[in-house]
Amino acid sequence: MIKKLFSIFFFFVAIFPTRAQKIIDTVETSNGRMFIYANRTWEYEKDKGFDGILNPRMYSILTKDSTLNYVQTWDNNTCYTSARKNDLSRLKDTLWLCVLEDVHSEYVSPVDGIVTSRYGYRNGKHHSGIDLDLETGDTVRSCWSGKVRYSKYNDGGFGNLVIVRHYNGLETFYAHLSRLLVVPDQDVKAGDIIGLGGNTGHSFGSHLHFEVRFYDASINPEEVIDFEKKVCKDENLFVHKGLFRPGAKPTDTLDEGESPVQGVPIAQKKYHKVKSGDTLSNIASRNNTSISKICQLNGIRPTTTLQIGRSLRVK
Ligand SMILES: [Zn+2]
Repeated sequence: MIKKLFSIFFFFVAIFPTRAQKIIDTVETSNGRMFIYANRTWEYEKDKGFDGILNPRMYSILTKDSTLNYVQTWDNNTCYTSARKNDLSRLKDTLWLCVLEDVHSEYVSPVDGIVTSRYGYRNGKHHSGIDLDLETGDTVRSCWSGKVRYSKYNDGGFGNLVIVRHYNGLETFYAHLSRLLVVPDQDVKAGDIIGLGGNTGHSFGSHLHFEVRFYDASINPEEVIDFEKKVCKDENLFVHKGLFRPGAKPTDTLDEGESPVQGVPIAQKKYHKVKSGDTLSNIASRNNTSISKICQLNGIRPTTTLQIGRSLRVK
C-alpha cells in the first residue's frame, strides 16, 4: 500500500514539476495580485502562463511558416530562445515592424555616452552590438517598454546581462552591467532603470554593449536608433533578409575588442590588467594616479580584492 502511495506521489511530482507549487499566500500589489508559492518563489497573477508573445502579428507570421520553422519562446535562463535555429537570412518577404506604436510610443536612450565601437566586422570578427561609453555605476535604462526576459550573470562573455523583450517584436541586450536592478518577468516602461553600467564579463573597460535582436538574430542597432540624436530613426522598420548575416548563429557573436570607432574621439582612457602581486597602491603609483581615483573609476573600494586578469581603468 505504502509503495503504491509513493508511486502516485512521484507520478504527480513528475507531471506538475514547478507550476503545481502550492500557493501559500496572495498579496495585493500595485502591479496586481501576487501569488507566493510554497517553494518561496512568486508570480504575478497576470504572468501566470505568460507565453512571451508581445507582438502577436509578427509571431504568427514568423512561426506559422513551416518552411522557416522559426521559434521564439519565453525563457528566463538562456540568452537565445530558439536553441540557435532561427536563420533570418532565409526570410523570403519583407515584414513591416512598427517600432513605436500608439500605446508604446516612447524611446529613451539607454545611456548618455557616445558610441565607442560600432556593429559589424572588427579585426576579422563580428561585433554583434554597439558599444556606448559610460562610467561604472551610471544608470542604464530600457530603451522601449516591454518585459524583462533575462536578468543574471552570463558566462558567455556578456557578464551581468539584462534582456528586455519589447512590444514591437524586438529584444534589446544590455551587457557588462555592474548591478542588475530588475528581475525576470518584470514589466518595464521606456526609460525605466534596469541596471548600473560596468565592466563585467568579456569587457575591457566600463561600457554598455547594447544589442538589438529580432528572433535571436542581431541587427545593426543603428538601423533603428540614431545614437547621436538619441531618437528612433523611424517609426517603422522593414525587416528583410539583408538585415541579417547569412547563416549567423547567436553563439559566434560577442567580440569585445578595444579598438575604437575610427574618427570618434573617446576620452583618454587607460587600462591595466591585474597581474599576480599587483596592489592598488603600486598600480596607482605606476600610473601617476591615486587609489581613490582608481576606486572611483571602477566602482570598487580600497579593500576590494583584485582578481588576476581583471581589467582596471586607471585613467
Ligand atoms: Zn560590444
